Amino acid sequence: MAVRNGDLTEKWYEYVYRDRDESVRRFVDNYPDERALSVSCDRFGHDYRFVRPLLSNPDEALRAGKAALSRFLASETDRELQDVYLRVSDLPAKSEVSLADLRATHLNGLYTTRGVVADTGPSRPKVVRAAFRCAKCEDVTRHVPQTGREFRSHAKCPRCSSVGYLF
Ligand SMILES: [Zn+2]
Repeated sequence: MAVRNGDLTEKWYEYVYRDRDESVRRFVDNYPDERALSVSCDRFGHDYRFVRPLLSNPDEALRAGKAALSRFLASETDRELQDVYLRVSDLPAKSEVSLADLRATHLNGLYTTRGVVADTGPSRPKVVRAAFRCAKCEDVTRHVPQTGREFRSHAKCPRCSSVGYLF
């Protein structure tokens, strides 16, 4: 049985935001120094109508969580929070899968796995805007927004209209 997105938003509101929980308050106060709000799955109790869609379709469930957060903020402050990340911790035991058993069937679902961090490195900056130079006319196109993992330029040079010469 599918749960409508509006219902999920309502559940987030009801379980996490409505009682103006201390952790939510702290998060709002610390934004934008902190952009991630962690919520324990325990807050949703054993409501399978929330937990099931969270595990099977986390993107939608977390989108609903952000919509509910916007609603909460609108009722509390006139602030708007952008680039907020919601994390749900303490997932039910059935969500646990070992790294060795991780398969394509687990794609797009929410799972818990355990491991030991063997090494860490400095966090690498992410390119949000890039500049490209046309190999034909040398014109530089600046401020091209980057959203994915691979660089994307305009399809053709804005100056000389050459295709495939932007690097
Ligand atoms: Zn060009």
